[in-house]
Amino acid sequence: MRRFSFVFFCSAFSLLSLLSSCLQTPASPASFAPTVTYHPFVTLSPTLFGPPWAPLPSPSLFRPTVQSASSSPAVGARTHYRMQVLLDYVNRSLVVDEYITYVNTTGVPLENLVLAVEPNRQEGVFKLETVAAPSVSGYALNGSRLEVRLRPALPAGESLELYLRFTLNLPPADIFNLFGYRSGQMNLVDWYPFIVPYRVGWVLHEKGEVGEHLVYETADFDVSILPTEAQTSVLIAAPVAPDRNVYRLQGARTFAFSVSDRWKMASRTVGATTLTSYFLPADEVQGQRVLDEAALALETFAHLFGPYPYPALTIVQAEFADGMEYDGLFYLGRRFYLEDDGTKLNYLIALTVHETAHQWWRGLVGNDSALEPWLDEALATYSEYLFYEQNYPGVAEAWWALRVENFAPQGFVDARIYDMDDKQMYTNAVYLRGALFLRDLRARLGDEAFFAFLREYAAQMSGKIASDEDFFRILASHTQVDLSDLLQKYFRPGHP
Ligand SMILES: [Zn+2]
Repeated sequence: MRRFSFVFFCSAFSLLSLLSSCLQTPASPASFAPTVTYHPFVTLSPTLFGPPWAPLPSPSLFRPTVQSASSSPAVGARTHYRMQVLLDYVNRSLVVDEYITYVNTTGVPLENLVLAVEPNRQEGVFKLETVAAPSVSGYALNGSRLEVRLRPALPAGESLELYLRFTLNLPPADIFNLFGYRSGQMNLVDWYPFIVPYRVGWVLHEKGEVGEHLVYETADFDVSILPTEAQTSVLIAAPVAPDRNVYRLQGARTFAFSVSDRWKMASRTVGATTLTSYFLPADEVQGQRVLDEAALALETFAHLFGPYPYPALTIVQAEFADGMEYDGLFYLGRRFYLEDDGTKLNYLIALTVHETAHQWWRGLVGNDSALEPWLDEALATYSEYLFYEQNYPGVAEAWWALRVENFAPQGFVDARIYDMDDKQMYTNAVYLRGALFLRDLRARLGDEAFFAFLREYAAQMSGKIASDEDFFRILASHTQVDLSDLLQKYFRPGHP
């Protein structure tokens, strides 16, 4: 993430990060552990795809594109998630039918698929009822890892449809976690099993104490969300407006949504993009301010980096200690609304801008947030400065004092989330020294080359998972200037 974990103490300018961490090592791509118990595959013929249970409310909206492993190759095709959610707001539970169409674009035959199942990190939350596919021979769910064995292997370039049925009983969320329910609000983030990226192996990292550990490919989503009867008064905050009950989001890394019966909302448009802000009625002034500044940030970044990648941007207030970005949707902690002083330079506005910038840096351009978190966090943080420089130049330099200099940051920009056991140290190194590196890089290149580089980095890596190497490869095509002293100053020894 994406996170800015800051809390106000005493005044708006006295801040302490809430981030913490511990020393861990990332998981290596694992093979099946010998102790794993495999469940036999539920045999269904491909023609049975389509629910074998109660009929869907709007079956015509879902036309399963069942493809067998013998379908013609669809090279470069994105994974498609089609989910039908029966939502029980009163009882905080969901029943979900998930159809995944996966195309093997790895270039090698796959004998297994690995899915991240974040809700299964907690007892009693996630219950997997069915796994089915034409060529699955078994599956194993261990914590947040679901491994599905394919027999025969899925050849490169061919596709597979996987069906899962699961239930979620949402846990109470604490102030450091969004997933679950809190204060009359359900937050569904990383709530469904999804296929993780495949590189040399499957990329599914261990959770750290700081930062984000999940890595996402871009995918297409059709999500039907149906509140159970008599609960239709709830508002659903989603990354896109529904077409009847179906939310269609394309080229996104994840689909997050929230539900509450307590919100007010406000909307506006910027060009073809609809922005919507959800907030408690008592916080209407701030809910509107957030909406207006997000709109300005969206315009600013579209101008600087390239077109906004989604049809809408949704901002959800939450009882949360932080801000957190998802595709087309982000969360802002209510504390920032309550501590708003009405000025442009405070954490309510800075975090609004930061999370908006993540729509380009982590949404449009993906990265490995566990191993190379600077690629999104340094850019999102420096983007805050760009927003102030462009729109409120009178306070742009004060931004550096508020967000960076106050913390006298130390540490290597390219730290991993596992490298530090303190949230402030992590933020200082990756976010704050990351912003300082980008400031110095811009000064070295000059504005024309620097912004041309950012635009090309966004364009070239759009829809992909960028690496440190990609960043510097594209940068090298925009400058011949010697950057070795900057690399030595900001990056770990031995950085190429
Ligand atoms: Zn961030």
